[in-house]
Amino acid sequence: RDVLDRLVALGELESEATDEAVLAERLGQPVRVVLGDAKNVKITTPEDLTAARAAMAVVPRVGTGYDLHRLEPGRPLVLAGVTISTELGPVSHSDGDVLCHALIDAMLGAAGAGDIGKLFPNTDAAWKDASGLDLLARADTALRAKGWRVSNADVTIVLERPRLGPSIDAIRGHVARVLGIGIEQVSVKAKTNEQVDAVGRGEAIAAHAIAMLVSGAGA
Ligand code: MG
Repeated sequence: RDVLDRLVALGELESEATDEAVLAERLGQPVRVVLGDAKNVKITTPEDLTAARAAMAVVPRVGTGYDLHRLEPGRPLVLAGVTISTELGPVSHSDGDVLCHALIDAMLGAAGAGDIGKLFPNTDAAWKDASGLDLLARADTALRAKGWRVSNADVTIVLERPRLGPSIDAIRGHVARVLGIGIEQVSVKAKTNEQVDAVGRGEAIAAHAIAMLVSGAGA
């Protein structure tokens, strides 16, 4: 109030002052420049508060993924870095890890960022025998660079044999570690195909995945 009265007395409010800093300077007050942050918005009115809340909101995005690989004798079966003891393993340009491949597609799908083939083309020698877990880490890094992170993922493996039950928690732990999230945010389920079709005859392994990404202040 006192400052305002003095400005009125000086006739400054009628003048060409562009902002309060100019007025303060004219009153002989020191003015200092400090570095701001575009995210540090000034909240004055209730509308400002609504807009600020919207800007900070965590926006979830969801995507699905699917993968299948043929199985042949004498190849290792590795799911998220966990080697499964069995005679049959996937035929693939990479390591044929359907779990990681389906999950990567789900994550990329949620971000609208293409698919695994676009990110890691199987025509590129760099991805020959690439570990699914390594590709998953790379995909996560690419999405984090865009401001996304996985908030949870759920994967179903369809494999006739062997039973994956004993390996499930190890697989979940590996995925969670690579994604930098808690194991409770990663679900992995396994089922057979009831001896129906190629998967059911043990000729292939398949995986279905869903991933939710969050961005904004929660990322
Ligand atoms: Mg694949």
